[in-house]
Amino acid sequence: MEKKEQVVCKDRRCPVHGGLKTHGRLFEGIVASSKAKKTASVVIAFNRKVPKYERLEKRRSKLHVHVPDCRTVKEGDRVQIMETRKLSKTKSFVLI
Ligand SMILES: [Zn+2]
Repeated sequence: MEKKEQVVCKDRRCPVHGGLKTHGRLFEGIVASSKAKKTASVVIAFNRKVPKYERLEKRRSKLHVHVPDCRTVKEGDRVQIMETRKLSKTKSFVLI
């Protein structure tokens, strides 16, 4: 008989199992740090147009992302994050 391990997700701030609604922008980034509980810091890279030179400039930005109970991430993981309501002082993104 095969026993399947079930992850029970009681995190209310989970887009799949909880009532957290996502809206707005979707980003793809690399996990830079996952030391904090339920929080990861994710680096996203994007191009920004510089009007003066009409060129694209490479930019990167670090975001704090909420990691629900049912997910685990480690440094270097490629993840998709979605904008959501403000979860704490610096967190307004959630891992999807
Ligand atoms: Zn969940």
